Amino acid sequence: MPQRTAFITGASRGIGRACALALAASGARVILAARHAQKLDETAEWIRSNGGQAEVVCLDLADPESIPRAFAEAVSKAGPIQILVNNAAITKDGLAVRMKRADFDHVLQVNLGGAFLCIQQVLPSMMRERWGRIINISSVVGQTGNAGQANYVASKAGLIGLTKSLAQEMASRNVTVNAVAPGFIDTEMTQVLPAEVKERILQQIPLKRMGTPEDVAAAVKFLASEEAGYITGHVLNVNGGLFMG
Ligand code: NAD
Repeated sequence: MPQRTAFITGASRGIGRACALALAASGARVILAARHAQKLDETAEWIRSNGGQAEVVCLDLADPESIPRAFAEAVSKAGPIQILVNNAAITKDGLAVRMKRADFDHVLQVNLGGAFLCIQQVLPSMMRERWGRIINISSVVGQTGNAGQANYVASKAGLIGLTKSLAQEMASRNVTVNAVAPGFIDTEMTQVLPAEVKERILQQIPLKRMGTPEDVAAAVKFLASEEAGYITGHVLNVNGGLFMG
């Protein structure tokens, strides 16, 4: 099996970092991408000191020009990318009635537009090589909706539609495109929630615990593997049973 190169956005912490560690442990060369190099460098150093291969590139999904730059740098450091994990995302929560247009647009631009632009960067080489894995990190709320998150939910539901359309476009080239829909995962994104909100969500989770970044990374690692080659256009729930769609 040839060594693969994986590009992970938002790899500085949380789920993205866990995905990078899991893919590196499975033998992939990983490109860690986010806005600032410092935390990425620490993770890359950790991977290298454990026998893996890792490179760092800076990209800001809110700045479309930084995206082709980051991918060109990644390819020059590590060769063509065979695995793309679109993980980076932001929230700007608020009720729709008061939501500023700029906050709606910004979340869509980063979470959905940014993922699309990253996908465009990797498609030509994946099509040429007739092998590729694209994994978009959606969310359970993209499946169920969530009051106070119209912008974020629209971006996450949009990623599911994008995943299914691309899966159809790319299937003849042996490029699979799947989404992972995490539920309630213990990261900095959820650490800001008030204790009573966390408790209420926990009550609704059949497995009665929050997920870990490693729970999500295991699903991503599987979808990126050779063994997952007959799975495309799928949304893999990693949510402790919170939503069974
Ligand atoms: P996090 O906030 O801990 O990490 C987000 C990552 O994205 C960070 O590395 C950050 O630097 C990066 N990022 C943010 N804006 C960026 C930009 N403009 N350009 C480049 N990088 C940027 O989040 P997390 O909890 O690890 O979530 C990771 C993914 O999982 C996200 O797509 C999130 O929507 C999804 N998700 C998380 C949960 C959860 O409960 N934590 C649930 C469902 C889905």
